[in-house]
Amino acid sequence: MSSGSDEPVDCERLASERATLEREYPLAGLPRVRDVLADATGTLRARVAFARDGQGRAIATVAIEANPRWRCQRCGLPVERTLASRSVVEFVADERTEVPDGDREPFVAPGGRVRLADLAEEEFLLAAPLAPSCDEPERCARAPRPAPQSVAAAPATRRPFDGLRDLLQKTDRT
Ligand SMILES: [Zn+2]
Repeated sequence: MSSGSDEPVDCERLASERATLEREYPLAGLPRVRDVLADATGTLRARVAFARDGQGRAIATVAIEANPRWRCQRCGLPVERTLASRSVVEFVADERTEVPDGDREPFVAPGGRVRLADLAEEEFLLAAPLAPSCDEPERCARAPRPAPQSVAAAPATRRPFDGLRDLLQKTDRT
């Protein structure tokens, strides 16, 4: 396994060769992935096995594994949880191309070329939990809370008739 270069690879040639490529990426180097995480520590390992289906279409099985630190959507604490996922993608010329097999994800490969980092990142985003959480209510409850707003600063504590009473008193005085 090597970090490899990030140059686009030729899907058609690799599909004909039935090549399997392995890469490892620091999560810090994948901007779309970083957005859903508590921080950018950890790595994303990817294995892409190119092949051709019965009709000769270029496809690949993309398998990923990562050990990211997610941000709990309830308390904000980082939660370390392994993500492992696998999908079959079919390389298409553009977004309008229909993929006949519903089990496959279309993946746009302009000019028949694709960046392995993009494949790995897409698979990560497909598999990522929508709302990661601690799965332990006690842990969420122990999380440090943001300081409560000072009561004096909250306008809701002002009684609604204060203004009216001031007005009436002024009226009495005249
Ligand atoms: Zn939590």
